[in-house]
Amino acid sequence: MNQTAAQGARALLPRWVVPVVPEGRVLEDHAVVVDGERIAAVVPVAELEAGHPGIERLELPDRVLIPGLVNMHAHSAMALLRGLADDLPLMRWLHENIWPAEKIIMGPDYVRAGTRLAIAEMLRAGTTCFNDNYFFPDVAAEVAVASGMRSVMGMPVIGFPTPWAETEDEYFRRGLEFHRQFVDQPLIGTSFVPHAPYSVGDGAFARIAQLAGELDIPVHLHLLEAPGEVESSRAEHGLHPLDRLDALGLLGPRLLAVHMTQIDAGDIPRLARAGVHVIHCPDSNMKLASGICPVADLDAAGVNVCIGTDGAASNNDLSLLAEMRQTALLAKVSSGNPEAVPAARALSMATIHGARALGMEDEIGSIAPGKQADLATIRLDRIETQPVFDVISQIVYAVPDSQVTDVWVAGRRVVESRELTTLDEAEVLESCREWQQRISTAIGDDPGGT
Ligand SMILES: [Zn+2]
Repeated sequence: MNQTAAQGARALLPRWVVPVVPEGRVLEDHAVVVDGERIAAVVPVAELEAGHPGIERLELPDRVLIPGLVNMHAHSAMALLRGLADDLPLMRWLHENIWPAEKIIMGPDYVRAGTRLAIAEMLRAGTTCFNDNYFFPDVAAEVAVASGMRSVMGMPVIGFPTPWAETEDEYFRRGLEFHRQFVDQPLIGTSFVPHAPYSVGDGAFARIAQLAGELDIPVHLHLLEAPGEVESSRAEHGLHPLDRLDALGLLGPRLLAVHMTQIDAGDIPRLARAGVHVIHCPDSNMKLASGICPVADLDAAGVNVCIGTDGAASNNDLSLLAEMRQTALLAKVSSGNPEAVPAARALSMATIHGARALGMEDEIGSIAPGKQADLATIRLDRIETQPVFDVISQIVYAVPDSQVTDVWVAGRRVVESRELTTLDEAEVLESCREWQQRISTAIGDDPGGT
């Protein structure tokens, strides 16, 4: 299969290996043996020749090898809307800017071009897997497979017509068609992505709960993102959103709850008991002034917290390195505790915790024999990351994306010395220029636009 491009065994020899499990460990003078799409061994360099005589060696001096980062909340195609509307509250940003723009440009061509731009950016920033929430997941999945990137693509459900589907039934029909089309594709997983409790009805949620159980897939949902959502839910449904989801059978370990800035201390034990995964998007929450997810308290209570970038229209980049840093910093300033979310914990949240939430903990998220070879190397010999007292501290607090040098997904080298091997960078840039023009023209012509 060309997307996994199985190759013979070779040994990667970085200066350091951060396997992520166990948390905080840094290995020196170790080789990571990759055979085909999987990691075959992690061994001291001194023992490499004995166990793997004559193996091809790839020297990676001054580099640290980490598991590929897992971006747990993306709207990839929105990379084309980066910087379209900034400095607005969530509802005005959505209703007056983003949704009118999407209404005009939405379709397979836009999703193809936007997803390609997002993937190019994410791969070059060390991200090897993303959990996507957007329309035309079939188109996005084709782009992801062609790019050699791993992803979980959502089947969208929202309570109004869009170019993807007119009616609730059509959302389910098209989503399930997409699921059947890609269910056997090794780099693609699927999920349900109901937009939010305020935009999806009880009937659709109940149907999602049943189907997600039957298909054994996650439900990826914007939840308690911004102020007012509890009050409006009480007014419309007579229930707190968590009570409503519970009654509809959705408050459980399938639920990937994105944002969660509007929760209080009383909600935390309940989320932990239910096994809900929380996806923290600090840049987006800060930019839209949505609020602060109490990450340190959730983590202490045993909730699996992972990290996402959200779409580039509300971030405005897709850097998980930046998001890790923001996670660690925001947890400290919001709790008044500089020990909250230490660097190694932030790195776990951006890797193994995401893998766990997706039900892929045995396959990705750490460097261990038997796992998929989803890997990234970061060079630490630059001005910005010298000297190196603590490798994990450098990764979380100092490394810019531009120091990610090489990336592998399922053993395939998709970034080589910062060059994309599966995407044509010039073509991606040219397509961005064309879409900027098309979007500007479309919005300029539309009275509902900005
Ligand atoms: Zn989002």
